[in-house]
Amino acid sequence: MNLDKLLRNNIRNLKPYSSARDEFSGEAMVFLDANENPFNAPYNRYPDPLQRELKDKIAVIKKCKAKQIFLGNGSDEPIDLLFRAFCEPGNDNIVSIDPTYGMYQVAADINNIEVRKIKLKEDYSFSAKELLDAADEKTKLAFVCSPNNPTANLMDKAEMLQLIENFNGLVVVDEAYIDFAPGASLLAELDKYPNLVILQTFSKAWGMAGIRLGMAFASPEIIRIFNKIKYPYNINILTQKKALELVQQEADKNAWVELLISERSKLVELLKAFPFVVKIYPSDANFLLVKMYDARGIYDYLVENGIIVRDRSKVLLCDDSLRITVGSPEENEILIEKLNELI
Ligand SMILES: *Cc1c(COP(=O)(O)O)cnc(C)c1O
Repeated sequence: MNLDKLLRNNIRNLKPYSSARDEFSGEAMVFLDANENPFNAPYNRYPDPLQRELKDKIAVIKKCKAKQIFLGNGSDEPIDLLFRAFCEPGNDNIVSIDPTYGMYQVAADINNIEVRKIKLKEDYSFSAKELLDAADEKTKLAFVCSPNNPTANLMDKAEMLQLIENFNGLVVVDEAYIDFAPGASLLAELDKYPNLVILQTFSKAWGMAGIRLGMAFASPEIIRIFNKIKYPYNINILTQKKALELVQQEADKNAWVELLISERSKLVELLKAFPFVVKIYPSDANFLLVKMYDARGIYDYLVENGIIVRDRSKVLLCDDSLRITVGSPEENEILIEKLNELI
């Protein structure tokens, strides 16, 4: 893979916006360079455009280098930036597993990029060869979500490496749910693969969906491209401050993950006993995909009772299935109680 050749011409030639905080960063006695209001500290100041302090902390936690990290307004931002940097609208295409997270398709549609979807096997595993076979010289990105949403399973590592080693574009591995999975993240392999982009997020295990903070890990060359085309101040001060606070409390995150994994096992046992539950797919994430008789009927019944799950019964390979997030012990108990009233 030649990164420079993969890049769109206009992005290669782009002269990025240079902000006041790009031209000078560091300590000073008086800042009169950004037309900020001198009052209302600290919110009067523009945030660090590269979030250096936060990236240094994340680099320690993730055992990577700060220059291998991009932070975005949720994972949505790096997903969109990948299209904008590498995919020529109306011309290029991407390959993706199917079913999977809906944002790849939406980002592709916004950027007028064809998505070549490769159906998962019955056991929800994927074939690197099928993705590779679907690709041509205009295929710039390959998306694999692991653990996958909505099927909940971790993808086979050897299969992912086969894809990364043989694909002529960037392989994007979305690890939003990796903290709940027994398998190791591909982050440990990042140095070996210049065409690998790993997405993680603060929205799930870290419990921070509301502050909108997503991470992309990749080679410093790819990160530089993201930085070149992102909004100059894409992560606001409030988000940076809150995230700095919360990354100091990794123990809380680990305790939540442990509790949610144990709740997941409990839910599986309890749900299995219901006569209308046909199958519970194995889960490496913080949700369960549950096949039921009359999934829509049960969905409607739960909504009437103030419990909202996700109806996935119209999704490919997910016939009659509901996606149920693992909640707190109290929330899971309410779910089971309401389902008990049905029988
Ligand atoms: C929830 C989720 C995300 C997280 O998206 P954010 O924009 O970071 O909140 C990313 N990928 C997948 C597959 C998800 O299910």
